[in-house]
Amino acid sequence: MRAFNFCAGPAALPEAVLQQAQAELADWQGKGLSVMEMSHRSEEFVGIAQKAEQDLRDLLAIPANYKVLFLQGGASSQFAMIPLNLLGAGQVADYIDTGIWSKKAIEEGQRYGQLNVAASAKADKYFAIPEQASWQLSKDAAYLHYTPNETIGGLEFGWIPEVDAPLVADMSSTILSRPLDVSRFGMIYAGAQKNIGPAGLTIVIIREDLLGKAQAACPTMFNYQVAADNESMFNTPPTFAWYLSGLVFSWLKAQGGLTAIEQLNRRKQEKLYAAIDNSSLYANPIAVADRSWMNVPFTLADERLEKPFLAGAEARGLLNLKGHRSVGGMRASIYNAVPEAAVDALVAYMQEFEKEQG
Ligand SMILES: *Cc1c(COP(=O)(O)O)cnc(C)c1O
Repeated sequence: MRAFNFCAGPAALPEAVLQQAQAELADWQGKGLSVMEMSHRSEEFVGIAQKAEQDLRDLLAIPANYKVLFLQGGASSQFAMIPLNLLGAGQVADYIDTGIWSKKAIEEGQRYGQLNVAASAKADKYFAIPEQASWQLSKDAAYLHYTPNETIGGLEFGWIPEVDAPLVADMSSTILSRPLDVSRFGMIYAGAQKNIGPAGLTIVIIREDLLGKAQAACPTMFNYQVAADNESMFNTPPTFAWYLSGLVFSWLKAQGGLTAIEQLNRRKQEKLYAAIDNSSLYANPIAVADRSWMNVPFTLADERLEKPFLAGAEARGLLNLKGHRSVGGMRASIYNAVPEAAVDALVAYMQEFEKEQG
């Protein structure tokens, strides 16, 4: 029996997708070989790749003037690739600091150009998103980078910034959690292993006018234009992760697309935050309007209860609830592939555990 997996990443995958992958693992659609064994240039794999892209385009209604790139290196490589591709000599890029992931993007980006940290949530202990009216934006910034959902802190923008510069968004842990107006962005990127598919694939959605501006020192493999010109096959792409992500995209479409997924995700997070807020044992420090739908950190009133809480959870098949090593406490990641029944089981366990404490 499969457990309920609340891991932040690599994260739960839909069981139906795993079963489909298993059924066609050794012999894909009667071709006598596995997807893992196919040439990436074969008609079969090119078909798999194109269908995955089309399904992602359908889900997010990606406009025709955006390229979708299927890359490697994780979201962390994007922290360097973004300035290498978008930040010219003498230009400045604005960054918003809302937590650990945006800080990593800033630290890495600084090596490749001039950055301005236009706002930081630090003064609020990273418990609230800084209001846009307080941002110190640069004149003519090449782009504005922000992290719509901070996976570790559990802090999420419920709104899209309105700035003149192209928006560049690290959506690793929130992409596909609900419908999105892609046309508001210059570029969106996400490591696959949170809310898309297996680790090893990174998705970049980029407006075409932002291509072709890479710094001279930008490695060929890091150049978005090169990837776009070669259908993300300048070299061997992560074929199996691409295929499996494609299965997730068609699964999402079969669930009713992102409007249906949004309703489900809204209910899941409401139930979990209500359980936290209605208890005297559990707490979540994030400003209510800025709480993440996908990553729900919570603490226990007494740290000594963490170990027994986790042990009891594991015994019930509720896995990976331990918080990130940098912040401690608990964290439940409730991505698209985590069913509502998992949240119900977690809430029931939390209430039971609290009662036991008397
Ligand atoms: C997990 C995560 C990353 C890092 O992703 P990798 O693919 O491991 O490099 C970056 N940003 C956010 C918001 C994340 O959740």
